[in-house]
Amino acid sequence: MTTRRSIIRIIPVAGAAVLSGRLARAGEVEPSDPLAVSLGYVKDGAKVDKAKYASYAAGQDCAGCKQYQGKPGDPTAGCTIFGGRNVTAKGWCSAWVKKA
Ligand code: SF4
Repeated sequence: MTTRRSIIRIIPVAGAAVLSGRLARAGEVEPSDPLAVSLGYVKDGAKVDKAKYASYAAGQDCAGCKQYQGKPGDPTAGCTIFGGRNVTAKGWCSAWVKKA
């Protein structure tokens, strides 16, 4: 039976779980993340597997991508493809689209 006392004990635990989920989402995207792997994300565009991603061209980087939410000069910023998590300005993935 759920008592008022047991509910009061659960609330801080649930709150901490929600907060830790938010903090994890706000973190930086690692190339090992499943979505990053599927899109070929790298933190440094110079390390793109050009045999696998023939669409990559020198000069393409996250800072020049439509999905990048940073300002010029920001070393990292959120990417809409990754739910707002940070990617590096010099990174790249196969979802790259030239910023207008
Ligand atoms: Fe970088 Fe654009 Fe890929 Fe996001 S979608 S990781 S900004 S290249």
